[in-house]
Amino acid sequence: FIDFKFVRDNVEAVAANCRNRLSTADPHLVAKLYEEYVKAQQETDRLRAARNENSSAMKGKLEPEQRAALIERGKEIKAELEGLEARLVQLEEELQREGQRLPNMTHPDVPVGGEDQSAVLQLVGQKREPGFPVKDHLQLGEELDLIDFETGGIVSGAKFYYLRNEAALLELALVNWTMQKVAAVGFTPMITPDLVRESVFEKCGFQPRADNTQIYSVRDSSMCLTGTAEIPLGGVYMDKILSEAQLPIKMAAFGHCFRTEAGAAGSASKGLYRVHQFSKVEMFVVCTPEQSEALHQQLLDLEVEMFTELGLHFQVLDMASHDLGAPAYRKYDIEAWMPGMARFGEVSSASNCTDYQSRRLNIRYRPAAAEAEAAAAEAAAAAGGKKKKKGGGSKVPTQFVHTLNATACAVPRMIVSILENYQQEDGTVVVPEVLRPYMMGIEVIKPKA
Ligand code: AMP
Repeated sequence: FIDFKFVRDNVEAVAANCRNRLSTADPHLVAKLYEEYVKAQQETDRLRAARNENSSAMKGKLEPEQRAALIERGKEIKAELEGLEARLVQLEEELQREGQRLPNMTHPDVPVGGEDQSAVLQLVGQKREPGFPVKDHLQLGEELDLIDFETGGIVSGAKFYYLRNEAALLELALVNWTMQKVAAVGFTPMITPDLVRESVFEKCGFQPRADNTQIYSVRDSSMCLTGTAEIPLGGVYMDKILSEAQLPIKMAAFGHCFRTEAGAAGSASKGLYRVHQFSKVEMFVVCTPEQSEALHQQLLDLEVEMFTELGLHFQVLDMASHDLGAPAYRKYDIEAWMPGMARFGEVSSASNCTDYQSRRLNIRYRPAAAEAEAAAAEAAAAAGGKKKKKGGGSKVPTQFVHTLNATACAVPRMIVSILENYQQEDGTVVVPEVLRPYMMGIEVIKPKA
């Protein structure tokens, strides 16, 4: 359901968009393939009509030569049709393959360029100036017996860890607190599968088999490990037609994220900052095109509210074009101050994917006005004594929904931010007040006896 007509009719704008997003997709090739596909389809239709005409003609009374000529013509049409139909299948495959590589279009306000071009929209809270030499989360984690990378390395491999004691409770507290915050404002709390079919990844705009993929696939299976609960949440309404009255649908899922992190290196990869497995609460919204920009802002506002209640110092960014994932039309990131790195580090992102995912996942809705019109027509037909057509409702024209996703709580970087920002001179760490009821009332994390 990719809008190939849009690509053909706006090929220069689509090509400029690809350049702005550093995409290697080739919209000119897509447009050319689409033209060929449309021509081949028209030719196929013409030949099918000719075949029908030919077989009707054979039903009449005919001289033997006339019949022989029609049989001959029938054979010619059949051979031509077979060739064309095979070509159509091949063209469709190529078109889909090239089309899948196209990124979403981009919101006109998105800054064009690399990460340094991203616009700071908001700076929230105060940077803590502790007045003593700060430790990073790895040192605090070791001294307070909270994070064990050594055993993680032995049992699983590099970038795997065990959380212990208050850190294990902190993860559960963060997840519980976050779930209750988002459920209170209308998100359906959910727990989603961590293994999902490859086809659903693709329909969400991820490419599990690409060279630089961050996705783990499962041997002898068509499933992959989820990198984010966005994927199973995207699949919830796949191939469904919703009614406008049901929208927006807001879901929030707890799930595990698995990422190969191929090529990731440097100080921003240290400790819990970049790991292969982590827990996350992810928000996902299905809505009408008219609702999506306001809902994007609402998702951001909710993230800002939660990080403020956790007492973090952070900045909100309107991410520049090079940094947008293929499905995103616009993306807001939040970066929290991390004293261990003495810089801001990304803790969440919120993307409006417009109809990019819904076209691939085939999620549609019936606009209320169209639904009312169809109901009125049905009622009028019934009043006129006409028999009600079975499945008349399916005649209502449908549109693709918009989808959005946003991080509510990606646990490891929250633990990094909390340990590093709430550390005290005596080596203990204060637990943010809002989390204490979710972790046995513990107020301060102390060295173990
Ligand atoms: P993304 O789905 O890539 O937008 O990531 C969502 C959030 O998950 C990010 O903002 C980070 O807080 C967190 N995150 C992403 N990758 C990792 C990783 N490898 N290890 C720990 N946290 C991560």
